[in-house]
Amino acid sequence: MKDILSKLGISPNHDGTSTGLKWSGQGSNSIISFSPVDGGKLGAIKTTSESEYNHVIETAQAAFKIWRMMPAPKRGEVVRQFGEELRKHKTSLGRLVSYEMGKSYQEGLGEVQEMIDICDFAVGLSRQLSGITLHSERSQHRMYEQYHPLGIVGIISAFNFPVAVWAWNSALAWVCGDVCVWKPSEKTPFCAIACQNIMATVLKNNNLPEGVCCLINGDYRVGELLSRDTCVPLVSATGSTRMGRVVGAKVAERFGKTILELGGNNAMIITPEADLNIATVGVVFGAVGTAGQRCTTTRRLIVHESIYDRVKENLISAYGQIKIGNPLDEKNHMGPLIDQDAVRMYLSAIENIRECGKIVIPGGVLSGKGYESGCYVKPVIAEVENEKEVVQTETFAPILYLMKYEKVEEAIQIQNNVPQGLSSAIMTNSVREAEKFLSHAGSDCGIANVNIGTSGAEIGGAFGGEKETGGGRESGSDAWKAYMRR
Ligand code: NAD
Repeated sequence: MKDILSKLGISPNHDGTSTGLKWSGQGSNSIISFSPVDGGKLGAIKTTSESEYNHVIETAQAAFKIWRMMPAPKRGEVVRQFGEELRKHKTSLGRLVSYEMGKSYQEGLGEVQEMIDICDFAVGLSRQLSGITLHSERSQHRMYEQYHPLGIVGIISAFNFPVAVWAWNSALAWVCGDVCVWKPSEKTPFCAIACQNIMATVLKNNNLPEGVCCLINGDYRVGELLSRDTCVPLVSATGSTRMGRVVGAKVAERFGKTILELGGNNAMIITPEADLNIATVGVVFGAVGTAGQRCTTTRRLIVHESIYDRVKENLISAYGQIKIGNPLDEKNHMGPLIDQDAVRMYLSAIENIRECGKIVIPGGVLSGKGYESGCYVKPVIAEVENEKEVVQTETFAPILYLMKYEKVEEAIQIQNNVPQGLSSAIMTNSVREAEKFLSHAGSDCGIANVNIGTSGAEIGGAFGGEKETGGGRESGSDAWKAYMRR
């Protein structure tokens, strides 16, 4: 990993605050980043002090005055160059994501590819930031609606997508004429430093002000600096519902805007009309991929009573073949949880299940050679009713709850009967059932899939969810409008 860190311009004892290529580290605290893969220490990072934060905001404000006056397609050209640099750094950054976060190398590469894709999207968008014209009621007048940049966009991101979520926000914000200050997860700070170095180099090569792209590091206290700062008109926060509730309230108190991308509790319905081979693959990929640490992970499986036993047997057999181990080794299907806290939450959920449901596949923490970090766990399947608290709560681990239904309307009701509303799926070859699921009386989630699992996102569509998932939309479609004022 040392080679990769040095390729990405990172030293093991790194400053945590950056305006472009200039780094500072005056904060009194450090974050030490350990890999969940093998417990190895990546290094230590100095957290951002309040005075460093103030300097970042001043630099970003000055940069905004220049950046907003550049024609949008010129800003798009800078984002195009950023995408080109990401292509060059794809394997190194993908490996770093895999090692620091614990997702498979393929998924690490996939995350960098999402960054590249959003750059491509943003380049096109930079020539399409349109408003509408209207006929006026006053004679010889016309009206039009025009979009203007907001200023500083504060980005708070979660550990499980340590690079893509920042790029989803910043690529759009940049072409819209905004500048960005990023507070990444304290669990994946080295991934953020790598990204900062790549974009800051592009800005420097174009003689652009350094404050267009800034980085601050630390825990929730550094995040709070953004949420209460009136100089930050938009805070885009990705993470748990618990975090979103606090950040949302703080930003609203000062009449700022938010994009909230919070927890999910995603279900898949399997009807008697489903192709069970497609369904089984969809469930396994959705439930155990990234060790259940995707916001779109499949957590609940709602199966028609007539096929329930068959589906259960198929899953028991498929789960028996899952290889758990080092995510950088392509033979393994599932890597570790992020840290010991996550393992504790997984074990506590299993305890709760024992009290209110029935375990089908018991799980447990793995130990011995290759599992020294203590973060590798086995996936769990359990039969628990949807109303139970453990099912209503998102546990960020590979735990799948099975439940039965009789009528498709009942299945949709069960699927919707949780506080969260991110992703959902139905497996069926019946057009009638699929259309019911997609209708106004169907899934209440931001994402509704047919014959594909709950996890994953496509750059072209607006990504996000309803209810306690926060209501934000990022990435494609007209999500850009949230980064501008009308
Ligand atoms: P988390 O809420 O613990 O932390 C997320 C970020 O918020 C971190 O950078 C953290 O430092 C910051 N933070 C926490 N409290 C804060 C506060 N009071 N003020 C300001 N900042 C604060 O989440 P996590 O464990 O890193 O990530 C997992 C969660 O993220 C899951 O719930 C998952 O579903 C969710 N997630 C959602 C999406 C989505 O698009 N909906 C995407 C990825 C992850």
